Amino acid sequence: MKCDICGSLNTCVKEHKHEFLMKGKKIEFIALRRFCKDCNNLVYDEELDNQASKIAIQEYNKKYGINKEEIVNLRKKFNLSQSQFAKILGCAKKTLVSYENGNSIPNDNYTILLKTLIDSPEIINKIIDANKDSFTEKEYVKINDKINQSNNLNQLYSITDFKPSEYNGYTKLNTSKVYNMILFFAQKMVLKTKLLKEMFYADFLFYKETGLSITGLEYAKINLGPVPDQFEKIINDCTKNDLINYEIEFQNNCEYHKIFSKKHYNKEEFSKKEIEILNKVKDYFKDFTSSEIVEFSHKEKAFINTEYFKNISYDYAFDIEIK
Ligand SMILES: [Zn+2]
Repeated sequence: MKCDICGSLNTCVKEHKHEFLMKGKKIEFIALRRFCKDCNNLVYDEELDNQASKIAIQEYNKKYGINKEEIVNLRKKFNLSQSQFAKILGCAKKTLVSYENGNSIPNDNYTILLKTLIDSPEIINKIIDANKDSFTEKEYVKINDKINQSNNLNQLYSITDFKPSEYNGYTKLNTSKVYNMILFFAQKMVLKTKLLKEMFYADFLFYKETGLSITGLEYAKINLGPVPDQFEKIINDCTKNDLINYEIEFQNNCEYHKIFSKKHYNKEEFSKKEIEILNKVKDYFKDFTSSEIVEFSHKEKAFINTEYFKNISYDYAFDIEIK
């Protein structure tokens, strides 16, 4: 292979840190590339260059979009073939195939549509009916049969005005998960300020890894750091539902807002991955006092770059580092 700049044949392969904007969003990753040993410029190498662009797409999808496994799982959930599912989405079969293989990035419209379907699968029937004209009578019947046979239909019909966004982590609010997350962190007793931060970290770290939040909660910036929007109502609801006791104690002129769990959290509410993140957050902050976790959260871009009393974008999750 020859260098385009100086014409040298003296090249080598080395790890290269890529850092660039893709569809306006920053991505970073390391991949092998070929360089000229004489002038140090990048040298075209079809195989390595293709690999690097594939990694770039995966990184983008992991951070900002939807990953290929999620698309395949969604289609399988509906029992649909690639051509049937493509027709419902309104794209060519080869487009869907390239999304499923991770060879291209779904554009924003498809990303939103796919994420909406993951969260609210019941709307597939509405989409099919809206595009009824694009199916033959036979196809229409067949697709509906297949979807109706799929196992997941039982819980499908719960139409709400949920709109997936960067503020809810593209996830519909799941109050049962919210309550169980509180029970998880409360196990016996937790101070309210610490609990609210741990919830923030759990949702945001899960988003960092999967592109979705656990609970669908929106978070806002207040003096004490990021907290779930309407957390007072959430705590009240937990008390009303007899899940926790909420007590305020005064010691040395300080108020301690203590939350005591009255039940064990229900493990069944969470996926394995979610439990993993919950444990990670709990372990990481186990020795932090309330004021230490407040101080820690004040260093997050999520906090610094958000205005007071405004909602925090889950996209700041990518700047959070917790080992
Ligand atoms: Zn050169």
